[in-house]
Amino acid sequence: MSFPRITVVVVTALMAVGAATAEGADLPGSSGSSGSAVPCTIALDAGHNGVVTNTYDPVTGVLMADYPNGKEDADALDIARAVRDRVEAAGFRVVLLKDTTEDNVTYRDRVDRAAAEDAVVGVSIHTTPGADGSAVYPQRVGGYRTGEGTDGQKTTVTSDDSVTAVESQRFSTVMAGARSVAELRGVPVGDLSFDGRPGLWGGNLPVISLIADTPWVYNEFGSATGGGAHGISAAEESRYVDGLSAGILAGLATSPQCSVAGSAGSVG
Ligand SMILES: [Zn+2]
Repeated sequence: MSFPRITVVVVTALMAVGAATAEGADLPGSSGSSGSAVPCTIALDAGHNGVVTNTYDPVTGVLMADYPNGKEDADALDIARAVRDRVEAAGFRVVLLKDTTEDNVTYRDRVDRAAAEDAVVGVSIHTTPGADGSAVYPQRVGGYRTGEGTDGQKTTVTSDDSVTAVESQRFSTVMAGARSVAELRGVPVGDLSFDGRPGLWGGNLPVISLIADTPWVYNEFGSATGGGAHGISAAEESRYVDGLSAGILAGLATSPQCSVAGSAGSVG
């Protein structure tokens, strides 16, 4: 019954956020989008790797530690495929950065693919235990990871791309609003900490968000009964798909790079 009022609040917030960054000339997808019929592209990152991987990013030097995580792998891929279908139905182009749960793709592979596809945003999809675990994590200037580099020396990699961070934060705010409506609970734009986690560098940005030149939106869905390796229920999955899809479409509709949702025409 209270849905209409909530929706109005969210839409008003979206318009305010969208108006704050109405240019974005240096963002991905800027070139070739003026008057072009080519729809905007987004990259969907189903969380976790098919095998344990611990390599150093050749570009930044950060440790790229990733691993399979039980039922989360298939959940994230199912959700990514469902979101893809909805976003494509609205006329946008979607690239999945993982096609099967067995795929072995590093964070560098994923962000390079997103950039090569000229994605205007990358969206990471994860789940986690705990009903209070839902959150959206944006890129932030000054966000970092720190640990032992390939040369054995303490190394810190810090984010300094303000244009990308501003668009990531705008998109994350839109996403958090849409997800809050779909999940029937407040989904905050949050801050992560990786400090004290064995096998991972410390710091406060997901590695994929840190090394991406594309605006990135990192999502966790908190489950009361499962989450992460334990899996989420069909009802939870449905709410997550709804929220992500609505958030992506609202973010694209207010994107400085993209035409209004639906105007690109219907795409098979
Ligand atoms: Zn995860």
